[in-house]
Amino acid sequence: MKTKATQATNQAFDVVVIGAGPAGLACAVRCAQLGLSTACIDNWRDKKGNSSLGGAYLNAGCVATLALLESARIYHTLKHDIQMHGIHAEGIALDLPQMIKRKDDIIEALQRNAADLFAHHQIQRFFGKAKLLSEGLIEFSPAEKAPGSIITARHIVLATGSAPFQLPCAAIDNKVIFDSVAALNIDSLPKRLAIIGAGVIGLELAGIWNRLGVKTTLLEAQDTFLNLPDQQISREAYRIYNEQGLDMRLGARVIAARKSRHGVTVDYQTNEGRQSLHVDKLIVATGRKPNSEDLATAEANLLLDENGYVHVDENCRTTLPGVYAIGDLTLLGPMLAHKGMEEGVFVAEQIAGLHNPINFDRLPSVIFTDPEIAWVGQTEQALRAVGEPIKIGTYYLCDTAKAQTTGKTEGLVKIIIHAETDTILGVHIIGTHAAELIAEAVLAMEFSASSEDLVRTIHAHPTLSEALHDAALKVKDGIK
Ligand code: NAD
Repeated sequence: MKTKATQATNQAFDVVVIGAGPAGLACAVRCAQLGLSTACIDNWRDKKGNSSLGGAYLNAGCVATLALLESARIYHTLKHDIQMHGIHAEGIALDLPQMIKRKDDIIEALQRNAADLFAHHQIQRFFGKAKLLSEGLIEFSPAEKAPGSIITARHIVLATGSAPFQLPCAAIDNKVIFDSVAALNIDSLPKRLAIIGAGVIGLELAGIWNRLGVKTTLLEAQDTFLNLPDQQISREAYRIYNEQGLDMRLGARVIAARKSRHGVTVDYQTNEGRQSLHVDKLIVATGRKPNSEDLATAEANLLLDENGYVHVDENCRTTLPGVYAIGDLTLLGPMLAHKGMEEGVFVAEQIAGLHNPINFDRLPSVIFTDPEIAWVGQTEQALRAVGEPIKIGTYYLCDTAKAQTTGKTEGLVKIIIHAETDTILGVHIIGTHAAELIAEAVLAMEFSASSEDLVRTIHAHPTLSEALHDAALKVKDGIK
């Protein structure tokens, strides 16, 4: 039963995309390029209260993190690392509000790009929170009590993304206890900072604050560090972050956060018992949950799982005909912007009668810390667990001339191949520019390359990419 006035608009589209994050944007643009009349409904407001395309990724996620990390990296270099170049800098000071402003300016420029892209492709933009009424019928309204409008579509794509998961024991106020979104706007430097969760977001945020000279402590419930990447890379990452001064407490499950006039006391449980840590600010980075609440009426009968993920098949189709779900909203792949973007294009092409399936086995993952971590394919531990015959080649970046010239010598490239066929099964990198270097590995795997192919590929010298070549060479020569 609706409690507010709702009006049918007589507006009908081939496709309506709900959500304008990376997945929704990519989908809407591809639909329009394929000649489908397309609309996109989104309810994100930027810091100034204006409607904004780009979703969490652009407004409160990867872009903001990367911008701040770059500033923090420069600050740290100027403070600590440039004397060896024979450069002496004095009076280096931090202007955190300016750092945040630079980040906001970048976001604004990219928002304008997205708006131009929509205008160029004649995608109809609607502002509001959308709800699926039934197949083909969507209601949206600009505010909770405002009258709603109804539009119709032959195809509907749900792309509403995800939001930070709230931890009941650490109530967010965004003054002392922040979620991972608000944490990107902290504009005064805490002396001591704790972050709950040493996952991707926790580590990326910790990297920023630690580089700015804040005493940063990560509290992670699990006993092991970074379970998703190859464990050799995780061990290397732990060692490097530790050397950078990051305090990483594993097996530390946070059970309470008590605010006081001078910050917050965090209680956590370890094998040794209950411990406490007092900090000025606390960030909660304990995962994200899909934005599926109130996305469809009960009558629409959209199937969700117990954690709120929309149920989809391998073609991103929900249980409702003509309704698709993409991006963080489903469990089809990891919560990665580029996974959502690929799915957006994939669904648009399906709607247009094309079928170009996505190869999820070739999906690169990146953690934007300093140094970066990037990988594609399978890990050594996963391959050993199933008894796959493998050979491994590793090459340390410090052995490349390029790394020596830049002074960014930390990290390694690791290639895992099938021992009988020489096919590359996984490539794992930690080091400066790992996020860029992984592209060659993804392409190689997409073309089912062998390590021999990589060895025969000429790499420019001196570059970091030679580490990939030389790791492949080590596989060939049987040198570890
Ligand atoms: P995550 O699941 O990667 O990490 C959360 C961590 O919090 C876990 O390790 C968990 O053990 C820990 N935790 C939970 N409750 C705790 C407690 N009470 N005390 C201590 N530790 C606790 O989640 P995330 O880092 O928030 O990231 C969310 C998603 O977004 C992930 O899927 C991630 O891959 C994705 N993401 C990716 C990128 C990227 O690709 N660079 C960037 C941001 C987010």
